[in-house]
This record gives sequence, structure tokens and C-alpha cells, in this order.
Amino acid sequence: MLIRNNKSGLATGDELVRQIDALLPQTQCGQCNYPACKPYAKAIAEGEADINQCPPGGDEGVKALAELLGREVKPINPENGTIKSKVVAIIREPECIGCTKCIQACPVDAIIGGPKLMHTIIADLCTGCELCIPPCPMDCIDLIPIEDNRQEFLSA
Ligand code: SF4
Ligand code: SF4
Ligand code: SF4
Repeated sequence: MLIRNNKSGLATGDELVRQIDALLPQTQCGQCNYPACKPYAKAIAEGEADINQCPPGGDEGVKALAELLGREVKPINPENGTIKSKVVAIIREPECIGCTKCIQACPVDAIIGGPKLMHTIIADLCTGCELCIPPCPMDCIDLIPIEDNRQEFLSA
């Protein structure tokens, strides 16, 4: 692993990417315009992306990134989406036809089931990224709000 520090004390290279990624919510939703949290962290580290492109991280996330990088706090860019309460997905199982499209869309393997079998979401693994909703031909996946534990996550 490449670890360097520049004159300001800010880590660089892989270590800076790791520190930025640790402040991101790991929802893996792609709203930042990158396919997942780690590529967004890399883009921030390389100066290609701004610190306000992650709606799931919210204002607290921007503040944490600004503190780490010595940058100005700014509001979430509305082009990336809006801050919403944290949700978890559930499948209305009697309506599921077992097509597996949701499994293919889930970036964190939170859905179990096989072809033509009822599918179930493991709530503890679901990040609420919503990526399984559009592909479902039965429209049988709901999003349920859960208590926002982002502060807990950021201070962990
Ligand atoms: S918007 Fe935030 S949570 Fe979603 S993939 Fe990008 S960095 Fe991760
Ligand atoms: S189950 Fe759906 S909402 Fe939950 S992480 Fe997977 S794709 Fe995202
Ligand atoms: S996409 Fe919808 S119908 Fe297909 S397996 Fe998933 S929940 Fe069931």
C-alpha cells in the first residue's frame, strides 16, 4: 500500500483514498456519479470530484470530508440528489416471481433466492441504495424508513 504525507500533514495516495472512503456511508448507490463509494473517494483524492456529491452522507458527511481535507463546507449538490431518511428494502414475498433481477442489481449481495424462488432481503446488509427497485417487474419491493444511524457510523 502506498502511504505518503504531504507538507500539510494530509495523507496522500492509497492512504488518503482509504481515509476518505472511511467517511462515506457505503450505501454503494452511485448517486455521486461514480459506481460505488471507493471510486468516488479516489476521485476526491485526485481532485476530480467535489466533496458534496454524496446525498446519503448528508451535511454531516460533507462536514467530515471538509475537516479531513481542509476544505470549505458546502451544501449537497442537488444534481446528485437530495438528503433522505435512511431506508431498508423489503420484498412483498407472495408477489415475487423469482426472476433474480433484484439480485443482479444489488451491489452488496443483500438479497437471497434462486431462479423462480421467492426472494428475501437481509435487512442487516441492505444499505437502502434503491438500485433493486427499478428492475423488479412485479414492483414488489418496498422501502421502509429506519432510524438514521449516520452519526453513529461517522463517529465509529
Ligand atoms: S453517493 Fe455516497 S453512498 Fe452513494 S455510492 Fe456515492 S459515495 Fe457511496
Ligand atoms: S436490497 Fe436493494 S436497496 Fe438494499 S442494498 Fe440491495 S439493491 Fe440496495
Ligand atoms: S426483481 Fe422482484 S420479482 Fe424479481 S426476484 Fe426480485 S423481488 Fe422477486
